[in-house]
Amino acid sequence: MRNKIVAGNWKMNKTLEEAQALTSELIGMIADEVKGNVKVVLCTPFPYLHPVNQQLGSNKRISVGAQNCSEHDAGAYTGETSVSMLKSMNVPYVIIGHSERRQYFGEDGKLLATKVDKALAALLTPIFCCGEPLEIREKGTHEQLVKQQVEESLFHLSAEALKKVVIAYEPVWAIGTGKTATSQQAQDMHAVIRKHLASKYGAVAEEISILYGGSVKADNAKELFACADVDGGLVGGASLKSREFVEIVKAI
Ligand code: PEP
Repeated sequence: MRNKIVAGNWKMNKTLEEAQALTSELIGMIADEVKGNVKVVLCTPFPYLHPVNQQLGSNKRISVGAQNCSEHDAGAYTGETSVSMLKSMNVPYVIIGHSERRQYFGEDGKLLATKVDKALAALLTPIFCCGEPLEIREKGTHEQLVKQQVEESLFHLSAEALKKVVIAYEPVWAIGTGKTATSQQAQDMHAVIRKHLASKYGAVAEEISILYGGSVKADNAKELFACADVDGGLVGGASLKSREFVEIVKAI
C-alpha cells in the first residue's frame, strides 16, 4: 500500500503569528475531521519550521517539511540551510526541485540529484518535483521531458534509496494559475512516471507515492485523488487557508 500524502507548500507567505494561527487551526480541524491514514505535511518557510514543529508536538498525522535544502554539507554558503540543520530540528520532509527553484534559481537535474542524495543521507524524505512548462506541453514532448527529469535526478539511486523518495508531478502551467490538469492528464502522466520507474526498478515502482500538484482546490481534489496512480497532492495557494486545505485532505 502506497502512503497517501497531502503536502501544503506555503512558499514565502505568512508572518510567524499567521503561521502559528494556521497551524493551530489545522491541528484542531484535522484531529476532528480527518479519518484514515493520510499523512499531512506542512512545508513552511525555513524560519517557521521549528516553531511549527513545536506546536505539532507528537502529532502522529501532521509533520513539517522544508521547501528546499542546500547541496552543501556546511560552511561559507550565506543564506543556505543544510540537511543536517533540518535533521537537527526534526524536520522529516524536504521539497526538492520545485519548478520555482528550477526557474528562478537555475536548479538543474544534476544539482537536484545531489540534493536528493544529501536529503536521503540525512534520513529526510525528499519530495522530488518534476513537470513540464506550457510550451513543452503544447509541443507534445511533455512525457519525454518529465521522464528525463526523473531519470537525471533519481535514476542513480539504489532501489532501497528510491523507496524513500516521494515524487510530485507538477505541470508548471498549472502552478498558481488556477488552471488544473484534468484528472485524465494527471493520471496519464503519473502512469508514465510509474512505468518509467518500473523500467529500471521493477516492482519497486508500485511502492512510490506520486503526488499531483498544480491548482489543487477543495472542488477538484476528489476527482484528482481518485486516479489510480495519484497518491495525494502538493498544494500551494489552497494550503494557506485552513478550511480549504482540510477539505483537500479529506478528499483523499
Ligand atoms: C505548488 O506550489 O507546488 C503548487 C502546486 O501551487 P498551487 O497549488 O498554488 O498551484
